Amino acid sequence: MNKKIEKHQFQSEIKQLLHLMIHSLYSNKEIFLRELISNASDAIDKLRFNLLLSKNEIKKKEKEYIRIILNKSKNTITISDNGIGMNKIEIIENLGTIARSGTKKFLKNLSPDQIKNNQLIGKFGVGFYSAFMVAKEITVKTRHMQENNPDNSIFWRSNGSEEYLINTIYKEEHGTEVEILLKDNEKEFLEEWKIRNIINKYSDHITIPIEIQEYNTKNKTFSWKQINKAKALWTFQKSQITKKEYKDFYYDITKDTNGPLAWTHNHIEGTQPYINLLYIPKKSSWNIWEQDNKNNGIKLYIKKTYIMDDASCFLPNYLRFIKGILDAENLPLNISREILQENSITKKIKLSLTKRVLNLLHILSNKKEKKYQIFWKEFGTIFKEGIAEDTTNREKIANLLRFTSMKNNSHESILSLNEYIKNMHENQEKIYFLIAENYESAKTSPHLEIFQKNNIDVLLLSNRIDEWMMNYLTEFKNKKFQSINKIDNEFEKKFKKNNKNYNENPEIKNFLENIQNTLKEKVEKVTISDRLIHSPAALIANKNTLSPHMAKLFTAAGQKVPPVKYILEINIDHDLIKKIMNIQDKHNFKNWINLLFDQSLLSEQGSLDNPNHFIKNMNKLLINNENIK
Ligand code: ADP
Ligand code: MG
Repeated sequence: MNKKIEKHQFQSEIKQLLHLMIHSLYSNKEIFLRELISNASDAIDKLRFNLLLSKNEIKKKEKEYIRIILNKSKNTITISDNGIGMNKIEIIENLGTIARSGTKKFLKNLSPDQIKNNQLIGKFGVGFYSAFMVAKEITVKTRHMQENNPDNSIFWRSNGSEEYLINTIYKEEHGTEVEILLKDNEKEFLEEWKIRNIINKYSDHITIPIEIQEYNTKNKTFSWKQINKAKALWTFQKSQITKKEYKDFYYDITKDTNGPLAWTHNHIEGTQPYINLLYIPKKSSWNIWEQDNKNNGIKLYIKKTYIMDDASCFLPNYLRFIKGILDAENLPLNISREILQENSITKKIKLSLTKRVLNLLHILSNKKEKKYQIFWKEFGTIFKEGIAEDTTNREKIANLLRFTSMKNNSHESILSLNEYIKNMHENQEKIYFLIAENYESAKTSPHLEIFQKNNIDVLLLSNRIDEWMMNYLTEFKNKKFQSINKIDNEFEKKFKKNNKNYNENPEIKNFLENIQNTLKEKVEKVTISDRLIHSPAALIANKNTLSPHMAKLFTAAGQKVPPVKYILEINIDHDLIKKIMNIQDKHNFKNWINLLFDQSLLSEQGSLDNPNHFIKNMNKLLINNENIK
């Protein structure tokens, strides 16, 4: 047996890296355990793969394990596995050089300033070397599965400075054992509860059992106790998972007792393999509307190892209510959020996850159950943001929108655009919608009168983001959208309430002029309405005028907006208008016209700049009501 100890120098980049680790002030040192467990789990995967390849030999299946021993008297923590192990060439290559080009490149670009910044440690694949954050010295004993002689196992030891030692030793089993001699101030890693916590946090879903050694004081014997669940639910095929298991898992990752509404679970193969298990919750989380809420319920795993919560870059913002996990194969462990954002794999996965969620919603929307309605009620407002945010999927999202309409006698939004189109009037070319402050005022808006008469349905929009959304939604299935708060000449021609032509009548012409002179710059124009039936007057916006709602939004955002100027439409067939036309007294006429204008404004924008002024004026007119006869 060759007992000659060899001294090897670390590659210079590794020296730099080790220096960084040893002097690290990085607060999250516990990640070293995640790294070592992930290596052990990889080694077992590799062994499994190798056994699969060598099918000729019949191998008895051994129990796979990752084992942890805490030794308080020696100050050591040992992580061992019965995976593939390493031979001498491999250990020199793997633990003495940086083979991976990504890390190499990263180290090359590292400036002294960045080295001082501890946070960087969490940002790239330092893997095995991260153990030097807590270790005085690390000893590795390993035997490759193809090495049949236990005496030819490899011993590796280093204190993380310039060099490491290599020797041969006896090792009973194939696999690797990493023994960490802890720094004096890192002794908390000798506590079992601490180790359990770390493993629950990062490695619960490693499929291989992670066992910790326990000492039974009665029998004076050692035994192994499993501390991880060792079941990565998402890696199983759908057919192997029960509904209850899906629901329990949802609870595990969200702690949301309301349960999930639906889920989509997919194993994707190809060049960028990944698995996703995404849930639509029944209830939204309390902070979903917070401005700086970066909470996105996606947990990122890389090859079954937990990487981070709130991996928000995998779904667009308008799907931020989705919870679940993504397990990607080809991303480097220890990847940072910033790097993740820019990664091309991330972008590809994001596109396909978005499609999956939209498909799931599509399926729900076609089912008889009420699930889609529950979804819409809970998340519809957020989902609508997608019309603006996601141009690629705009048509799909539009398909999933739900509205209430004039013909629907409830504020509940259950009408889809497809249904609206199906029920369109034969002469109707556009999809009509009305924007109002709330459902009640939409429902009773004077703008609807002519539509009621012609039996043409109108979508009623009163959600705070509706008008903003409609700026982006201009067409659906070749049908244009038209706001009925705005002028629409085509419509007016086609659906005119009668064929009378008042414009030639000098008396009426004069009346309109008097109104215009009274209201002055408050209105852009005064016209005879072709569409008001029950209301005396209404304000209508020009095609490109900023609506009062948008104006309010802009003002709230601190932007200056020009005052909204309306066209005042007068219903010449209305009794009140007929009476006002007959008023001779100029002062009295002015009061009535102001009242007419204010009530139209109130109906249109749901509030007045000076309601008291309006009330005073009205009271005056009520007292003197014998003035009109
Ligand atoms: P990474 O895991 O990203 O490759 P690490 O620094 O964690 O980087 O590990 C470097 C290499 O050392 C691994 O790729 C693997 O080949 C080898 N290695 C580390 N731990 C083990 C182990 N427990 N069993 C077998 N090989 C190991
Ligand atoms: Mg590793």
